Amino acid sequence: QEVKNRYKKTTKLGEGTYAIVFKGEVVDKPGTFVAIKKIKINAEFKDGIAMDAIREIKHLQELSHPNIIKLHAVYSSKSQNLNIVLELLPLGDLEDLMRASDSVTYGAADVKAWMGMVCRGIWWCHANFVLHRDIKLNNLLIAADGSVKIADFGLARTFADPYTEMTFNVITRWYRPPELLYRARHYSGAVDIWSVGVVFAELVLRRFWLPGDTDLGQLQLICDTFGTPTEDNWPGVSKLEGYIKPGEGEVKRGLPRDYWDTSFGLIGPLGISLLRSMLALNPHKRLTAKQVLEHAWWTADPRPTPKDQLPNPK
Ligand code: ADP
Repeated sequence: QEVKNRYKKTTKLGEGTYAIVFKGEVVDKPGTFVAIKKIKINAEFKDGIAMDAIREIKHLQELSHPNIIKLHAVYSSKSQNLNIVLELLPLGDLEDLMRASDSVTYGAADVKAWMGMVCRGIWWCHANFVLHRDIKLNNLLIAADGSVKIADFGLARTFADPYTEMTFNVITRWYRPPELLYRARHYSGAVDIWSVGVVFAELVLRRFWLPGDTDLGQLQLICDTFGTPTEDNWPGVSKLEGYIKPGEGEVKRGLPRDYWDTSFGLIGPLGISLLRSMLALNPHKRLTAKQVLEHAWWTADPRPTPKDQLPNPK
């Protein structure tokens, strides 16, 4: 039986920039559902977008982990359409959850459970030499059993070869680390860790945290919050192509300890220490995914909420 006849599209679930997502049913197993992402291919963007879709497919097929969306199949229909059959994740995403302050309350134990799942998923990506490169709240989807899964591997790429130059124009701006804003061409898993740190902060604050409206504005927000990157706190930074040398008296020190204690009190001193170590300006000083998982916050009180007891936005 041809792959494309194994699934039947039913209702539309949503629409993104490059794709329409349908709920699908497995023909041989009535009552078993999947998500079918139909990639829009129009003449103008054809090559670029088809490449993104193919990258998504390649990386997802190689990764199998409870916190990474499962890819079931890929097929083309009507010669031009690319269909990606994915695990159905019907309970919305972490952005819906962060925004639902009228209807959903959550606390430190819930944040610890969600962040634990995200960090284990990212650790698995990095252990398999895959950078995600677009971690943000709305790419973290919620499965029927309450678990969080990393989705949208459209930008992911293997980083096995650190000497290959990589494009710096990745990651939605608000989640972009300083080295990419300075146009570093050789970067590492540390870029994802920064994005995960921003996600962590947003879940705690229940609002977007560093919403820069231009790349320069984003760097300003980062300097205001963490201090200005200099050769003292980040040896080598001034060599990056996009580095902006601060003028005399323009070196900012970042927000005081009190800001962190007050804004992120929910997660306690250990949580704050983890958050800040994920958001070190210097990517070499940022924790690796493995170090993140070894942090003392995970085993401190409160213990993470069991996944079947987590709130969701649906
Ligand atoms: P975006 O451009 O917002 O990243 P996508 O093209 O990935 O969007 O998906 C569009 C919408 O389809 C999402 O906002 C979500 O509501 C829904 N969706 C995507 N993937 C799935 C899935 N695996 N299961 C259920 N719904 C999904």
